[in-house]
Amino acid sequence: MSFDVAAIREQFPILKRRIDGNPLIYLDNAATTQKPQCVIDALVDYYSTCNSNVHRGAHRLADEATGRFEAARDLVKDFINAPKREEVIWTTGTTEGINIVANGLSQLLSTGDEVIATGMEHHANLVTWQQACKVAGAILKIVPVTEDGELDQAAYDALLNERTKFVAFTHVSNALGTVNPIKEMTAKAKVFGAWVLVDGAQGAAHRKVDVQDIGCDFYVFSGHKIYAPMGVGVLWGRESLLATWPVWRTGGEMISTVTLQEATWNVLPYRFEAGTPNVGDVIAMGEAIRWLMALDHDGLEAHEKALLDRATQLAEAFEGLTIIGNAKEKIGVLSFVMDHGHPADIGFLLDRQGIAVRTGDHCAQPLMARFNVPGTARASFSVYNTLEEVDALFVALKKVRSMLA
Ligand code: PMP
Repeated sequence: MSFDVAAIREQFPILKRRIDGNPLIYLDNAATTQKPQCVIDALVDYYSTCNSNVHRGAHRLADEATGRFEAARDLVKDFINAPKREEVIWTTGTTEGINIVANGLSQLLSTGDEVIATGMEHHANLVTWQQACKVAGAILKIVPVTEDGELDQAAYDALLNERTKFVAFTHVSNALGTVNPIKEMTAKAKVFGAWVLVDGAQGAAHRKVDVQDIGCDFYVFSGHKIYAPMGVGVLWGRESLLATWPVWRTGGEMISTVTLQEATWNVLPYRFEAGTPNVGDVIAMGEAIRWLMALDHDGLEAHEKALLDRATQLAEAFEGLTIIGNAKEKIGVLSFVMDHGHPADIGFLLDRQGIAVRTGDHCAQPLMARFNVPGTARASFSVYNTLEEVDALFVALKKVRSMLA
């Protein structure tokens, strides 16, 4: 395979760690990915050589910081094939991006308007619309999830109508790994003129994102799930919408003119970037995107699929284990429950063997209720994981089961 996992692993210092004498096997990538040395270096270099505030300084350091900060915006534009760099808004992460859109939407909806979300959303892409609908007197409708963990497309078709003003769905389910047909779902919503937001938190690291091809109006994602630091993310939105969308936070940078009683708003992207931004992490996110875009993307997808296929095969043969989520198209996420032991116990006992997974409801309580489970244990794979690590997970699970039985 052209995809050199060993060379990739070399770039991640944390993968050399040992946990209680065991080599770290990091299978919690859906929660956050580890960071390659170049991203760490970009952060350290910014603070070591040109730390200063952007867009306002009359000095060399401010010029350099601004240059790096705005270059990162260009990288995001290329990464998601956005038509314009002004449409790329820096946020603190997916959650904030969704809240910016929802804050505006709640002011644009009228009583009786309809919003559609789905039964597989992360709470960030569900609770936020619940609140927006409550404020506006709008009605929230939910696309159900099938037994396999896919969105019920016939039910979605039936929910759409001329009252549908807004549709929000995830690119990829964090809890199940399901990859949704976002282009088709967007096209269906557009027949009724609805605005569409895609939650890309789990999509951006694993699938090529082309917002023009998808046809959506908003695409949001977090840096920390694409090899960048925490505390930084992106809201992409169409200029025609963002230029008039109600503003979010108010303060410095987002204004054009201010009198004692009134203010006018700055142009995009600054209109939505009030206050001092997270300059260092933005710059490091640019580096993460440069790094990710340099990888052979087909090789990446093939490698992650091989990891998922091996894990699924071993899971299906594992006595007492049930996979939750068997969608036809998935990223490398294996969510499961076992006949003995709560997911939290499984996670605890795996950690004792150096294996990091996530357990719990994955911020998707309605989805857990749909599958009648309190939560799941979730192994989520990334570019640097190996088939040997997948095998080691199942050797460790054997021990876990014997301890819990
Ligand atoms: N949506 C999905 C699908 C997610 O997986 C996550 C993070 N687990 C979020 C939204 C929220 O992302 P963040 O916490 O980075 O804002």
